[in-house]
Amino acid sequence: MPDRMIAFERALAGFPAEAAALLRAVPSRGGAIPAAEAGQLGEWLGMERHALMVALLPLATAFAHTPISGFAVGAVAAGHIGPDRLAALYLGANFEFAGESTALSVHAEQAAAANAWLAGETGLSAMAASSIPCGHCRQFLYELEGARSLDVLLLRGGSARPRSTTLAELLPDAFGPQDLGIATGFMASRGDGPRLALDGPHDAVHLAALQAARASYAPYTGAFAGCALQCADGAILVGRTIENAAHNPGLAAVQVMFSRFNTSPLRGQFEAVRRIVLVERATTNTQAALTERCARALAPQAAFDYCRADLSPTD
Ligand SMILES: [Zn+2]
Repeated sequence: MPDRMIAFERALAGFPAEAAALLRAVPSRGGAIPAAEAGQLGEWLGMERHALMVALLPLATAFAHTPISGFAVGAVAAGHIGPDRLAALYLGANFEFAGESTALSVHAEQAAAANAWLAGETGLSAMAASSIPCGHCRQFLYELEGARSLDVLLLRGGSARPRSTTLAELLPDAFGPQDLGIATGFMASRGDGPRLALDGPHDAVHLAALQAARASYAPYTGAFAGCALQCADGAILVGRTIENAAHNPGLAAVQVMFSRFNTSPLRGQFEAVRRIVLVERATTNTQAALTERCARALAPQAAFDYCRADLSPTD
């Protein structure tokens, strides 16, 4: 059994049987725990949402892929709070690209937020992480609409009791999308993406990457990009570009895709990846070389396709 599977089983063993049975489905849901199930877990464990998020951090940490640092971090994001006061929860962990720049590392908070976005969330209400959020992540999260009021749960020195604060307190006098004239922000832009079209023949994997590109967040360059991988069992997973006002804390589609892959049942088994497709509208920048390099480094057996997409004539 791969190390990450063992870590996941160990983390599950820390929960009562009925809760563990429910949590076992988290990888097949891309790290998500639907709102009703999060409410059920809270009842079973006698925990409010924030306490539950902290209790789930060891499980989130089990998804880490850290061939460079060996330093595993987990994060749990809470989506919008519904009228029933329930919110879905999303787990994520840090992901490092061996053989590539450490600048490509996906942090746990980024992974959890990306999983929430890929699952259809349009905002976050809270974020917990097993380590104090670094400056990079604070800037990444500041891209969210309503970022200033995001609840951030801080854990220090292995304490199980978090201190609750807001992103506005953690990142005062911040520079963000509003300073560049962007009103909506990351995650809030769903449904108003570009109408991109592909030239030439395409199949289900191309179309998945195209849909991801259409839903990507690229307000600063217009270089909308989506990446899709297909596994030996036919499953298709995607990643989308997440740009940032400060550029560097943003993520390329391939980073989001591999992070998402490592929250799936096949996590760590890169040899199971058969195909990788990048669809992008290249503008002043392109993710083509980066994506191919990451694909070759992690899944050299996978066939790689690059497809340019253009705005459809109706735009
Ligand atoms: Zn970070």
